[in-house]
Amino acid sequence: MATTDARRGAVTILGGGVAGLACAIACAQRGHAVTLLEQAPALTEIGAGLQIAPNGGRVLDALGVAPPAIGNAAIHLIEGLTGRRVIRAPLGPGFRFLHRADLIAALAARAEATGVAIRLGAEVAGVGVDGRELRLASGETIATSRLIGADGARGAARAFVAPDHRPDFTGQVAWRAIVPVTDWPGEARIHAGPGRHLVCYPLRDGTSLNLVAVEERAEWAAEGWSRRDAPENLRRAFAGFADPVPGLLAQVDMVHLWGLMDHGATPRWRRGVCTLIGDAAHPTLPFLAQGANLALEDAWTLAAMLDDPAAWEDARRPRVARALRAARGNARNYHLSGARKRAAHLALRTLDRVRPSTLTGAYRWLYDHDVTRA
Ligand SMILES: Cc1cc2nc3c(=O)[nH]c(=O)nc-3n(C[C@H](O)[C@H](O)[C@H](O)COP(=O)(O)OP(=O)(O)OC[C@H]3O[C@@H](n4cnc5c(N)ncnc54)[C@H](O)[C@@H]3O)c2cc1C
Repeated sequence: MATTDARRGAVTILGGGVAGLACAIACAQRGHAVTLLEQAPALTEIGAGLQIAPNGGRVLDALGVAPPAIGNAAIHLIEGLTGRRVIRAPLGPGFRFLHRADLIAALAARAEATGVAIRLGAEVAGVGVDGRELRLASGETIATSRLIGADGARGAARAFVAPDHRPDFTGQVAWRAIVPVTDWPGEARIHAGPGRHLVCYPLRDGTSLNLVAVEERAEWAAEGWSRRDAPENLRRAFAGFADPVPGLLAQVDMVHLWGLMDHGATPRWRRGVCTLIGDAAHPTLPFLAQGANLALEDAWTLAAMLDDPAAWEDARRPRVARALRAARGNARNYHLSGARKRAAHLALRTLDRVRPSTLTGAYRWLYDHDVTRA
């Protein structure tokens, strides 16, 4: 069966993650008739946290989306093996911690309230005819005059726009887990050691702690993007870290492991009537906590320039490229060892005593940017 989307100003969005839902709301707020296709039978997310910075938070505010959040007051870098403080860099207002499931639920509720037609269980098997035709796994065909590909780094839209662009394994894997805590401060703590680091921050009412643990590895052999792993492997990787790391990891009873792939930005973001946003356009390493924030910025800015996606891509690329480079650089800085680590930590400790805000102040170009006013 073929259905046709011939309404004036209609747009089809592929993917119901942060990018797709946010873009659906932004387009609907501008008067477009929006259909969103998501392969999952329900809009859910894995149990994990997300750091939202002011640049992404402004988009949520403009969309009228306000999931429950905890304020993030500082980035606190700790020497993993000794437990010694290196620097605690205060953050300004607008930094928050969210549970991914809460963010997706809030976006989905807002999308429905703005009239977005969400089709769940709609797995797109292929995109063709200049992006004007979507083939569903069910055999159905959907025609569209405007397609936004927000189906992530391994989606059908990305495969259509940039079929030859393959990811490289970064030599890093990331575990994600949540453990119970009490009285955890509203700050992101990074326990950094040679070749590995652990990021901890509180979620919801502060009784859960989100853990993201990264380790350097020679190989990633799993056939998939992520998989369940034995908590023992995580504990083994961080053996030798000072308190409170052993106690936190002792509580992990379920953990997922990601192979971190570096695609860089996809070389082209458009083909025919299809335009990529979010991870489909630029899968972002998690070392600057910006993937979802950039996805929110993409969503807002593309909705505002829907009639000229070429101009949108030209305007958007330099900022995204800069953020991707900054995220890559952070991975190196966290994992220093030997003399380079000693020199870096000495400099940071001095900064900690004098003006710790210098560290986060270096990212004002990223956090202060307001796409909702541009
Ligand atoms: C360990 C880790 C920690 C992170 N922490 C942060 C952080 O703190 N802050 C931050 O900003 N970012 C963070 N990120 C990055 C962030 O998670 C991503 O950049 C963001 O979720 C991308 O959203 P998206 O909507 O573009 O893609 P996705 O979240 O991948 O959504 C794509 C959607 O498309 C659907 N889909 C895919 N294929 C099809 C198909 N064929 N048919 C129909 N539907 C389809 C999927 O089911 C999914 O719902 C982190 C990433 C990792 C790995």
